[in-house]
Amino acid sequence: MSLTTEQIQTAAAAIGVMLDTAQAAQFAQFRDLLVEWNERMNLTAITDDESILSRHFADSLTALRAIPSTPGLTLVDVGTGAGLPGIPLKIARPDLDVTLVDGTGKKVAFCETVIAELGLIGIRVIKGRAEELAHDKHHRAYYKVVIARALAPLPTLVEYLLPLARMNGVCIAMKGSDAQVEAAQAARAIKLIGGELDRVEPVTLPGAPDQRALVVIRKAKPSPSIYPRPAGKPRSEPFL
Ligand code: SAH
Repeated sequence: MSLTTEQIQTAAAAIGVMLDTAQAAQFAQFRDLLVEWNERMNLTAITDDESILSRHFADSLTALRAIPSTPGLTLVDVGTGAGLPGIPLKIARPDLDVTLVDGTGKKVAFCETVIAELGLIGIRVIKGRAEELAHDKHHRAYYKVVIARALAPLPTLVEYLLPLARMNGVCIAMKGSDAQVEAAQAARAIKLIGGELDRVEPVTLPGAPDQRALVVIRKAKPSPSIYPRPAGKPRSEPFL
């Protein structure tokens, strides 16, 4: 089995994203690589075509509604895993300059393979940890869009993400049904690290029961240089 370009175009259209045939073919190729690699290593728990389409591809594309349409924006996807949401966003918005980051070598190797096989340009993968990357002068306060899905609880996540965002840039946390509660729990961390909550936008996925939400945070002030705290701290001692 595989996904047809029509199935992919229909699923994307249902959330308001128009893909041409070439873009849909890139998604089909991405699906094939995901399934092939997943037989050898554990990249994702989601492996049936219907779920790949809704819970990986369509879900990733919902973030487009929080990404400004200005061409050529820099975007970093932290804890990208198998390239989600970064690779779907790059396929749908080829103008984005995308950086994928993950701490695990095999995930990085997979993303590199997808990029090469799909012939994507203006996208790269870095093997590294969020806590360290955010203190690297080439990455700190550099990105217009900082995004993550399924990486950490929001108080921890904002400590990873906000320092990477440029002033007036946007951090997007792709969350589940308890996003509103998480946003409230993260209020202190958001303020401390230089953010301002813009909105929690509910997202429904056609063909999947899960209620999803985008937590959108604006970078309002520079992040104090002590953040993120060293490896492990944001997770073991989150600001609550
Ligand atoms: N974003 C993907 C993967 C989520 S799983 C998706 O939505 O499907 C979380 C991923 O983040 C894993 O691949 C793990 O290797 C990576 N990760 C966890 N903590 C990290 C950190 N501190 N810095 C960088 N990557 C991290």
